[in-house]
Amino acid sequence: MMNDRAVIVGAGAAGLATAEALRDRGWTGEIVLVGAEPHLPYDRPPLSKQLLAGKEEFEFVQLTTHEACTSRDIDLRLGVEATRLDTRNKLVHLAGGEAIGYDSLVIATGVDARRLVPAEGIAGVVTLRTFADAMDLRAQMAHGKHVIIVGAGFIGLEVAATAISKGCVVDVVEPTPGVLFGKFPTELAQRIERTHLIKGVRFHFGQVVEEWNVRTGRIESVTLSDGETLRADAALVGIGTAPAVGWLDGAGLEVANGIVCDSQGQAAQDVYAVGDVANWFHPLLGVNQRIEHRLSAGDQAQVVAAVLTGTDVPHLDLPFFWTDQYDEKWQAYGYVHGDAELEVVLDDIDANRLVAVLKNNGYVEAVIGKNAAKQLIPYRRDLRAAAMQKLVRN
Ligand SMILES: Cc1cc2nc3c(=O)[nH]c(=O)nc-3n(C[C@H](O)[C@H](O)[C@H](O)COP(=O)(O)OP(=O)(O)OC[C@H]3O[C@@H](n4cnc5c(N)ncnc54)[C@H](O)[C@@H]3O)c2cc1C
Repeated sequence: MMNDRAVIVGAGAAGLATAEALRDRGWTGEIVLVGAEPHLPYDRPPLSKQLLAGKEEFEFVQLTTHEACTSRDIDLRLGVEATRLDTRNKLVHLAGGEAIGYDSLVIATGVDARRLVPAEGIAGVVTLRTFADAMDLRAQMAHGKHVIIVGAGFIGLEVAATAISKGCVVDVVEPTPGVLFGKFPTELAQRIERTHLIKGVRFHFGQVVEEWNVRTGRIESVTLSDGETLRADAALVGIGTAPAVGWLDGAGLEVANGIVCDSQGQAAQDVYAVGDVANWFHPLLGVNQRIEHRLSAGDQAQVVAAVLTGTDVPHLDLPFFWTDQYDEKWQAYGYVHGDAELEVVLDDIDANRLVAVLKNNGYVEAVIGKNAAKQLIPYRRDLRAAAMQKLVRN
């Protein structure tokens, strides 16, 4: 098996980590890493933060070099899209007509940003998923420009914070009654909302964009459902994502909110999936979950590489993510959702620091911190230990 050919489709964080982990764990066969984007594999979290702010360039986000891939004998095929998967003949068809045979296939195609059909094709309206998107938006976010953000999720809020820091006028349009609605405990979401209000963000809750008003092909303003018209020099559509699975039509894989996998990432015979596109059974959570967090992509890559090389399979950690907005660095570990019971266990206003635990029926399910990386450590350790114990008992 170690001499077989592994094909990995999707050259983002999860795809690259799988390729590297396969080599590190002794895979001696071919490793082909196919990516639709022309860029070397790169890290996405800074796209809405340091890169958008203009503080960093591509070198800051790039995760490898051509030389590093060559030295590890990873056959990197960039700017090539996989268009079809034939599981019967074990072939990945590429745009341009080539088909690559695989012994083991790892799908790491991530997600696509959801789009709003009426805004398609309007200059100045963007989504934010790729390096190219970030550079496009960055070019439009000069001091004094009016930026409309549709969607008060994590991406929308991070972009709002970055836009404010660049001196833009920021309006956020959101159909629900508050930021991060249903995704984050309400009390903490309200704190995040207050920070944005203090910084000058104008929220329009319970609203959608009814009209995208255009002059010579470029966005000029938007009209909301309550009739208000807001100037728009640029607009971000930040309304979530959809797993990039279109190319898998007819491949026979089970697709339900991503590619359905077992607890080791296996989707079918010799087919695995990792990262944002994958809906794994998470042993510590006891449910299937598709996780769009940077660190989970790396964890899953390690598990799949271990399975394929027959080396020690690491335990998947609980989900962990962070979001940086202004000088507030939030981190969350565990199973976070909107309606957990929240207990704030540290609220240091002078240090702008907070730790909160999330409970369900009295059991801690997650811990969230603001500017509290150090203070979270014991909570994370306890939460992980409890989850592992539960796993052993079951
Ligand atoms: C702006 C932004 C900010 C973020 N901030 C945070 C954060 O603060 N904290 C956090 O935990 N997470 C954050 N994330 C999420 C994190 O970046 C993702 O979880 C991570 O990138 C997932 O890696 P992946 O390899 O699964 O997918 P991706 O990084 O999306 O890579 C998938 C790759 O596959 C390619 N591809 C798709 N279809 C095909 C095809 N048919 N053929 C070939 N290639 C294909 C895509 O072009 C892409 O390059 C952020 C994401 C974005 C976009």
